[in-house]
Amino acid sequence: MNTPNTKDNQDTENIELIEIASNQLLTSRPSWDEYFATIASLTSKRSNCIRRHVGCIIVKNKRILSLGYNGTPRGTRNCFEGGCVRCNSTNSTTGSNLDLCMCLHAEENAMLFVSQRDLEGADMYVTLMPCISCTKKIIQCGISRVVYMDNYAPELDTVTIDCLQKCGIKVERCRGSAPSSVMY
Ligand SMILES: [Zn+2]
Ligand SMILES: [Zn+2]
Repeated sequence: MNTPNTKDNQDTENIELIEIASNQLLTSRPSWDEYFATIASLTSKRSNCIRRHVGCIIVKNKRILSLGYNGTPRGTRNCFEGGCVRCNSTNSTTGSNLDLCMCLHAEENAMLFVSQRDLEGADMYVTLMPCISCTKKIIQCGISRVVYMDNYAPELDTVTIDCLQKCGIKVERCRGSAPSSVMY
């Protein structure tokens, strides 16, 4: 198990943790949370973004409604082929110039293909804490629970958690040895 550092604790002190044991995943039947979190991690491997690989799945009544990973829109050049100027720029730091980014986020790609009626009350599993822009969409779509794995940026994550919880959305962190997003 990972031991959280102090900063990590501050960001997630009021978040319920779901621990995943990798050897358990390999040898025994996973819980629903372990199962869906692992699928979100696998989905992240399809990302074409040069900076991060993020995966997201939307689940309702234990059924997967949609999957998404981050990357440039269909019909455009992949981010790793230069399709997103912002991602390929060395000047952009985490969370900056997102309005110039051509990469759709994993949550956006997952939410885009589900009707609002189906999104209402659904759970979202995402390998990285949602950004503020995705957070607004998550709230507006009626998602009722967000399970994330890795933190994004401490100062932004605090705002995101606060926003989601104030809107009655349950936030949990799934942490353990499941493969998570990779930062480039
Ligand atoms: Zn990108
Ligand atoms: Zn986002």
